[in-house]
Amino acid sequence: MSREFAESLIVEIADYPTPGVIFKDLTPVFSEPKAMAYVLEVCAAHFASKGVTKIAGIEARGFMVGAALASHMGIGFVPIRKQGKLPRETYRVEYSLEYGQDAIEIHTDALKSTDHVLLVDDVLATGGTAIAAGQLVEQCGATLSGLAVLLNLDFLGGDVRFKQAFPQTDVFTVFS
Ligand code: AMP
Repeated sequence: MSREFAESLIVEIADYPTPGVIFKDLTPVFSEPKAMAYVLEVCAAHFASKGVTKIAGIEARGFMVGAALASHMGIGFVPIRKQGKLPRETYRVEYSLEYGQDAIEIHTDALKSTDHVLLVDDVLATGGTAIAAGQLVEQCGATLSGLAVLLNLDFLGGDVRFKQAFPQTDVFTVFS
């Protein structure tokens, strides 16, 4: 499976969910096993020597890549969820996103101080969600190692904002 073929599966939807947004639909990548194998292989290879001990996936499409990557790398998976979804005590961070406002949470006991955490999501847009997720990892007392996304919408500056917020981390994009 070539990178070009895997990337060609991404579908762009104009004006979804609001006018002016070009939504990047990665579900065709998730449904093609060879494309997913390519995604997991390049992410795992990039982070293989970085001492990552946990993957934290950002709801909801970050779960699809994050849980598969955790299994592929032989490490644990932790969900970062929209507010009100986790059943036990949580830390919470509120943030702005490309189209609205939200809050995300993590179980307070999800990570240990010895953990080195890789955040995973499908698309990095303004960076608000990923920065909030990084703040949750740090609230848990763990070390934030990096962020892996399939697509970075670089014209929105999320990668720059994330690096400003967490200069020591490694931001990796599979397709662009
Ligand atoms: P942001 O906080 O602005 O970086 O937004 C990132 C989150 O919103 C990610 O979880 C993405 O799944 C989703 N998202 C934002 N913009 C888009 C887009 N244009 N296409 C697909 N997903 C998007």
